[in-house]
Amino acid sequence: MLLLLISGPRQPGNDIDVYLAPLIDDLKMLWETGVEVFDAHRNENFNLKALLFCNIQDFPAYGNLSGYTVYGKTACPVCMEGFQGRWLSASKKNVFDGNRIFLPCTHHYRNLKKAFNGHQEFRVRPKILSGVEVFENIKDLKITYGKKHKKLLPQQGFKKCSILWSLPYWRFLFVRHTLDVMHIEKNVCDSVIGTLLNISGKTKDGEKARDDLMEMGIRDELHVVENENGRKYLPPAAYTLSRKEKIELCQSLAGVKVPEGYSSNIRNLVNMESLKLMGLKSHDFHVLMQNLLPIAIRSILPKNVRYAITRLCLFFNAIYSKVIDPEHLNALEEEIVIILCQLEMYFPPSFFDIMVHLTVHLVREIRFCGPIYLRVQWAFERQMRTYQGYVKNVYRPVGCIAEQLFYEEVLQYAGDFMINSMRIGIPISRHSGRMDGVGTLGRNQRDMSYDNRHKAHSYILHNEDEVAPYVERHMRHLRKYNPRASEKALADKHSKSFIS
Ligand SMILES: [Zn+2]
Repeated sequence: MLLLLISGPRQPGNDIDVYLAPLIDDLKMLWETGVEVFDAHRNENFNLKALLFCNIQDFPAYGNLSGYTVYGKTACPVCMEGFQGRWLSASKKNVFDGNRIFLPCTHHYRNLKKAFNGHQEFRVRPKILSGVEVFENIKDLKITYGKKHKKLLPQQGFKKCSILWSLPYWRFLFVRHTLDVMHIEKNVCDSVIGTLLNISGKTKDGEKARDDLMEMGIRDELHVVENENGRKYLPPAAYTLSRKEKIELCQSLAGVKVPEGYSSNIRNLVNMESLKLMGLKSHDFHVLMQNLLPIAIRSILPKNVRYAITRLCLFFNAIYSKVIDPEHLNALEEEIVIILCQLEMYFPPSFFDIMVHLTVHLVREIRFCGPIYLRVQWAFERQMRTYQGYVKNVYRPVGCIAEQLFYEEVLQYAGDFMINSMRIGIPISRHSGRMDGVGTLGRNQRDMSYDNRHKAHSYILHNEDEVAPYVERHMRHLRKYNPRASEKALADKHSKSFIS
């Protein structure tokens, strides 16, 4: 685990290559020569080689590490130039709402005009460049380190040839940087809930979003209406919830009870007065997306919108599975494109920020890098939260963390010598021990050592009547082919049964 505690306004940004240089040297050595390591099982030394399989980071760090600009018109680091965003002049942002180009060429959604952006879609799915092709394009890029030269860097595409490309195998990897599913799921869920409950600051709907529709010349019925008094009125869209529906949604979430440790108490996150969800953490969004949202919207919203959101939740549920059949991946890849197209029909264009688009590429990364749970950010984010708690002097955060970690290490070492002391670590559940020896649940389960298990096994073999015919058969076999050995085995058997 390679954690670098550098964030905030003084973070190195694109200059991170300087900090990574010693690590890259170690990785090169691990790949080319390897290190001598002791194998305790075989009781021998062997040469260990290692490679950096893929990186895990959040989206801004993706840009710093890979050197690709992850904002603007070509923000998607997988499609690159192949899939460009569209500038919305009223909302003043780039959106990535042309997801129909990922559909098969014959799909009927491609021919629809009114339901989408007013045009038919004839472009084909963008080609994803291989590592070798990317390297050919960027190998001559020169970067001048230092924040003074930041303005001289290109505003789109690659800014630098990252130091990671100096690893001999880097250009041959299918996925070099994985997308951070935790934050993608959180941001998508945040947008959906914010838009449904019309939470200010979170909603993707509003006067500007409706003005975008007017500029695009689509969905005339949703354009802003101005009455005689000069007051502006937004006609309700398919995703707009009435007050009654909002109350139903909030009530169903407020009534959820979950087992201890499953998630935070959802009831505390629902504000019934303002009909909002407040103070949600990443894991709350995860639980909402995986289980609760499809149930909470069951009785509200028009059928098509509800189905699209439910399918989105089921997609996230499917890709988070610990076991995924590779044969299902193609279907999942097609599924998310159709879901995004359906969302495009109902939600405003401003809904489709880069995070919503990135969901298209998640299945590809599962195909090359395995299930998501092996490379998610939960553990890192959780540990960073612990480290943040160590900071008492905000001017010197790294020093505070180093000092606290030192104390923690000393305490853990001292704890080895103190009997009955509680270690720092995962808190023990208040339910543990309550059911010991009670009922079927409370039956004690013990892990036996190999020696004890072997003894118990031999005891049963030597003393069970059911096994006796097999032992006798085995003895006959031995006597027939090796009379001397059979005499010795017989003697051993008698001595063992005598001891037992
Ligand atoms: Zn893309």
